[in-house]
Amino acid sequence: MAEVLEREADVVIVGSGGAGMYAALVAARAGADVLLLDRSLIGRGGATVMAQMTVAAAIGHAELDDWRDHYADTLAAGRGLNNEPLARLLCADAPERILEMAEWNVGWASEGNAITQAMAPGHSARRCVYVDYLDTGPAVSRTLRAQLSRTEGVTRLADLVAREVVVADGRAVGIHGHHLSSGREVAITADAVVLATGGLTRLYARNSASANMGGDGFALALRAGAELVDMEFVQFFPIGHLAPRMIGMDPIMWDPFRYKLGGRLLNAEGEEFTERYGVTEDGSYKITRDLATYAIYKEVEAGRGSPHGGAWLSFEHISESDLRAAFGPVIDRLAANGIDLTKTRIEVSPIAHYHMGGMVVDEAMRSRVPGLLAAGELVGGAGGANRLSGNAISEALVFGARAGQTAAAMSTARNSAAVRAAAEAAIGGAGDLGDYNPAARILELQGLLNRDVGPFRDADALARALARIEAMTAEAAALGPPIAQGAFDAAFLDRLDLANMLLTAEAITRAALARDESRGAHQREDYPEMDDAWGENQYSSLSEGRLALERRPVVREDAA
Ligand SMILES: Cc1cc2nc3c(=O)[nH]c(=O)nc-3n(C[C@H](O)[C@H](O)[C@H](O)COP(=O)(O)OP(=O)(O)OC[C@H]3O[C@@H](n4cnc5c(N)ncnc54)[C@H](O)[C@@H]3O)c2cc1C
Repeated sequence: MAEVLEREADVVIVGSGGAGMYAALVAARAGADVLLLDRSLIGRGGATVMAQMTVAAAIGHAELDDWRDHYADTLAAGRGLNNEPLARLLCADAPERILEMAEWNVGWASEGNAITQAMAPGHSARRCVYVDYLDTGPAVSRTLRAQLSRTEGVTRLADLVAREVVVADGRAVGIHGHHLSSGREVAITADAVVLATGGLTRLYARNSASANMGGDGFALALRAGAELVDMEFVQFFPIGHLAPRMIGMDPIMWDPFRYKLGGRLLNAEGEEFTERYGVTEDGSYKITRDLATYAIYKEVEAGRGSPHGGAWLSFEHISESDLRAAFGPVIDRLAANGIDLTKTRIEVSPIAHYHMGGMVVDEAMRSRVPGLLAAGELVGGAGGANRLSGNAISEALVFGARAGQTAAAMSTARNSAAVRAAAEAAIGGAGDLGDYNPAARILELQGLLNRDVGPFRDADALARALARIEAMTAEAAALGPPIAQGAFDAAFLDRLDLANMLLTAEAITRAALARDESRGAHQREDYPEMDDAWGENQYSSLSEGRLALERRPVVREDAA
């Protein structure tokens, strides 16, 4: 039997996207010994490195701006459900993070000494910074990786999947993980555990995510005794690429095109249709994501969709020179895919993109489980029912920095025996799956969520999805816990992923079924109106192994 690999650190951080890397930097600079782990490569997995567009912060370089205006816009988009202290923290601290990144040479697009800021839907000022051309996320990740390599006190461990937050005597005492390339179980004891595992959009068949965004952190948090909030609010990105076939490019790349150049969203009859849903665009880009998703679905439903079941997006009225001035080499990459935007319309349709819900934390990023913190997209509540564009990277950087600061100040009597015992319990056993195919179940679950728990929901579809999720959960549980049979055991990893995906999917579906109204990113066909009585958050937790839901008033500023 391979022995458990043991490590200790002051702070263990799970996930090395923008939030995890920022947390590691801040914690290490405050003197903590930090272990930063990721199931992928450090700083190259997850959403941060994929993001191509903008980061919102009221730095006031393009026009007079104030973080309070950013905060007001964030609350307006959140439709009354934002955790106000978290939203305030996001907007108030974003400028400091963005300017710090500038000092670290991230390369924000700028003219002279002024950082360029673009207007984006839902923002009341030109507030969104970016790195040209479509390089924002890669540049942010690169910069944080470079800072990490210059910072003493951070040990980086790639290829390591966190399986469990180990809790002893009511406190988080470490992480039990699995090292993919050696096949060994790993026990990491720490004073503070920060989960920065990002979002959950891999749960959906059509998503903008990478394969390591199946919502592990949500499931880990629930099993550790933490609460989740607003799990029903999955943001769908309205203009994900649908057709023609496009290789090696981001499916949500059409948004930056629309920021810079506008572009016409057309139905099968060639009409700009958003006016029918309350927003006149006239070639500009004004519609928020939830409304655009709704508008495209409704056009398709009315038989006015594009051939593959979406909408047309046209830049045909924009000259080649304007396209090149805005997007330089990206135009050549499109040409390699046979796409000439001066002659070709493309087809777009909604795609799961971001999660507003997540772990319940306070402004110091502490959950209700002592020693367990969260940061980044995994945190719930700041965006309420709908996130403003550009706020997610700000959230990752701001919450990451805050989590790092809090975690570095924590100390406790360490309990390595409990962490080792959790890891040892996962060793041994045949792991015979018979005919069971976890990869096929993952595909089934993704299709199920896309169809029945997608942007438009009703009670029948949600109840059907819930019944199937429960059946799949029971079937998986009957096989016993997943046991690795060596290095790179793909079936084992699929089983780990599936267990997390099923629990997270159940949390979304239960919350979506309970909220019988439409608000922001949660649209119920059977309850199409927003209901004032639903101006509350829903909290999910595990109670004796079962998911429980509770309604509570929104956390307002004056209650903080
Ligand atoms: C294609 C795309 C484009 C986007 N564009 C923008 C944009 O322009 N502007 C904006 O504001 N937002 C954008 N977003 C959203 C934004 O990028 C994310 O919300 C943000 O980057 C999340 O950062 P994070 O650090 O919380 O998580 P991530 O960057 O997703 O990092 C999470 C990390 O956790 C790791 N991980 C997960 N589970 C485990 C586990 N069990 N064990 C170990 N490691 C684990 C993953 O491998 C990953 O590296 C975009 C998202 C996508 C997908």
